Amino acid sequence: MIVVMQPGATPEQIRDVEERIQQFGFEIHPIYGVERTVIAAVGAPELDRNEAKAQLESLPYVEQVTLVLKPYKFVSRKFRERTTVNVNGIPIGGDLFVVMAGPCTVENEPQLLKTAQSVQQSGAHILRGGAYKPSTSPYSFHGLGVEGLEILKRARDLTGMPIITEVMDPRNVETVCEYADILQIGTRNMQNYDLLREVGQARKPVMLKRGMWATYEEWLQAAEYIWLGGNEQIILCERGIRTYETYTRNTLDLNAVPAIRELSHLPIVVDPSHGTGRASLVPALTRAALAVGADGVIIEVHPDPAHAVKDGAQSLTLDAFKELILSLRPLAEVMGRRLQV
Ligand code: PEP
Ligand code: MN
Repeated sequence: MIVVMQPGATPEQIRDVEERIQQFGFEIHPIYGVERTVIAAVGAPELDRNEAKAQLESLPYVEQVTLVLKPYKFVSRKFRERTTVNVNGIPIGGDLFVVMAGPCTVENEPQLLKTAQSVQQSGAHILRGGAYKPSTSPYSFHGLGVEGLEILKRARDLTGMPIITEVMDPRNVETVCEYADILQIGTRNMQNYDLLREVGQARKPVMLKRGMWATYEEWLQAAEYIWLGGNEQIILCERGIRTYETYTRNTLDLNAVPAIRELSHLPIVVDPSHGTGRASLVPALTRAALAVGADGVIIEVHPDPAHAVKDGAQSLTLDAFKELILSLRPLAEVMGRRLQV
């Protein structure tokens, strides 16, 4: 932490700041200039630096406080080079480009089983499907709950594909863990700290979607919560952010992929379905995700998008999904990624 004093701060004021910094547990390294004094503060590993910064900046004789260390530690690239999360033998974060696919929400057994078998034949590795659905409108469908989880389980029994499904409520984590192979934390819950702590206790991989408003730093701090709970099996998912654009549902921030790879060792996948909100744009953005270095994608697919209960406009048909996977092959080769486990 670097503390810059106001020009003309008196020796008493400088001494006051030095003492406060020492009380926080830092060692001080002051530079007494002609115009102003700068104090470098070193150490104090357990301190909440943002709070210390806010306290010091409230003093009229302090001009500015700059934090040098990132507010997350264990999910940082400084801690580790790369992490691979293993999901029932499927490595996420290696040279495999992981494809997760399935409907936005589990509607009924025939819908899910048909989708599961088809996406698997086309080359998907993991089946997605929501049993608990977050929704902006209190009047829309909120998922089948445990019945949906049972249907997902039958799809896994049938195909052998691991299941990713969302958990929204800390009270449901235990139940969802009985069925899911990956717990999904949705965009709206990225800063639900009780939920993050709860999935941190779980012994299942967690896919943490980026809050639609969140900076990379906030997103990585959310991941740090999960890590501190004892769960190191974390996958990040870029799913688009809110901007002023209205043609697309969100703006898919592909900057996030190489940026997160610089900042963190965790694998990162991309959701082009929620990132665009339009099925016609999903194939191009899936290829872009592969080209920009993502570890995989999560794509919404429905046998009959025109009758989908949720997110039909962004859902690919079974045939469109098949075609998309075929189009990834030459690109995967150029990028040095495998499409098969
Ligand atoms: C979903 O995956 O269907 C979903 C609700 O995603 P998000 O949380 O990104 O909106
Ligand atoms: Mn959806």
